[in-house]
Amino acid sequence: MAIIGIIGGTGFGNPDFLENSCTAKLHTPYGAPSCLPVTGQCNGVSMVTIARHGAAHTIAPSRVNYRANIWAMKHLGVTHLIAVTAVGSLREEIAPGHIVFPDQFIDRTACRAATFYEGHEVCHIPMAEPFCPGLRQILADTAAGLGLAHHAAGTVITIEGPRFSTRAESRMFRAWGADIINMSTVPEVVLAREAGICYATAAMSTDYDCWHASEEPVTWELIQKTMDRNTANMRRLLLAALPQIRCGSCNCRNDAASSIL
Ligand SMILES: [Zn+2]
Repeated sequence: MAIIGIIGGTGFGNPDFLENSCTAKLHTPYGAPSCLPVTGQCNGVSMVTIARHGAAHTIAPSRVNYRANIWAMKHLGVTHLIAVTAVGSLREEIAPGHIVFPDQFIDRTACRAATFYEGHEVCHIPMAEPFCPGLRQILADTAAGLGLAHHAAGTVITIEGPRFSTRAESRMFRAWGADIINMSTVPEVVLAREAGICYATAAMSTDYDCWHASEEPVTWELIQKTMDRNTANMRRLLLAALPQIRCGSCNCRNDAASSIL
């Protein structure tokens, strides 16, 4: 049976849609997760949620304990993980409020623990298809069914932050083929694969970053305003997608098992 995890980002940390919710007090070998995971049910589906930036949104992207968060999800039996994240758009056609389900990432992070295997074991995990194709398909089909403006694929570039990009960087990322930009997908997606958890991202576009000449440069205030306006859509999407998620025929689990030397 599938157990669904949600790691909520900006504007999606509160699990008030859960029935029989309770907090799981646990310790991980990597220290404390961003907050105590909340377990419960939603329309009969077992779920676990963690607010990526902490219950009060006080943890910067570079300081999120990604390993503790993923370890906690695995420990609580999570089979499928949906990561909600705010992103800047690097493409005209991805307007603020649109939802993107990326199929690729580019890693521009610099100082984050990005593997569980630092001891005697070495793990070379395949990453040609970093996001679970089955889970992405369910999310995209659900968004289409609800009539939500969305993009079924795309490349997300994750930067270290906490500063936003310069205009030159933003233009370079466009030239590289990136479609959206954030500060949190890597290493979360990599650790999920190492843990054998199916992982997909539902990315909410909040702004046009700074490449877009006619737009105001991105600010935190702008991001928050757009997220507030669009959180209801993200919630509709997740609640409709949850009951359709089943353990399927993807390779996410096998890749993890066969990559440890
Ligand atoms: Zn999968």
